[in-house]
Amino acid sequence: MWTDGALLSTHGRVLVELARRPALRLRELAAKVGITERATQGIVRDLVEGGYLERIKEGRRNRYLVRGERPLPDAAARGHEVSDLLDALVSGPAVPPSSGACAAVVLACSDYRYQEPLRTLLAAEGLLGRAEVMQVLGGASALSGRDGGRILAGLEFVTAKMRPERVLLTAHHGCWVPGAFVSHRRDPFATRRAVAERRRKTVDLVSRRLGHELELWFLDERGAYRVGRRGRSLAPQATSAAAR
Ligand SMILES: [Zn+2]
Repeated sequence: MWTDGALLSTHGRVLVELARRPALRLRELAAKVGITERATQGIVRDLVEGGYLERIKEGRRNRYLVRGERPLPDAAARGHEVSDLLDALVSGPAVPPSSGACAAVVLACSDYRYQEPLRTLLAAEGLLGRAEVMQVLGGASALSGRDGGRILAGLEFVTAKMRPERVLLTAHHGCWVPGAFVSHRRDPFATRRAVAERRRKTVDLVSRRLGHELELWFLDERGAYRVGRRGRSLAPQATSAAAR
């Protein structure tokens, strides 16, 4: 019997609510859908296991990423993706601006392929919505390139204004910005040493200018790791690559 006046299943409604507010607490989510917290927990688990939701740990809370590219499982919606449903029901992200202090300033490459890895790094470090992210072509690698002076001045300005606890410089694998990679084609080890050495010089310079200790992070297909320091890695097997 139809009693609750809803055409969408509770699974569908949970997905829509999480698309609207990705950091919604389980209790609030249950209240919105009108089911128990326990039932809500089961549905969220189903959706994660079914590949419709991705759970991202953010400090002690969870944030959920809806996988819009997944096909809708309903026979009546064959040929449509989850994003088709959400486009109709979710009008833009209803996320209020963050309040509170800025915890970090982050310099990152604007490369579209590394936006999700960057988000995942920020989430893992508890910095999502708490960091001022400066995105320029090349990210940290661009500091030693042609526009280095201008980027450094911007970084200096933002750091002085925000007074963050942390300053993160991130670079990524396969960055195509000119000057991001020094090539000594015949000797890959010399190349690696040259890159590491140049990066160290740049970091020293930036650190002196900002009067702030810097964290250097590297993103690749295996995850994110902090360069020059062991531990705190999203990809434990990749820590040995930290010297790159
Ligand atoms: Zn890049």
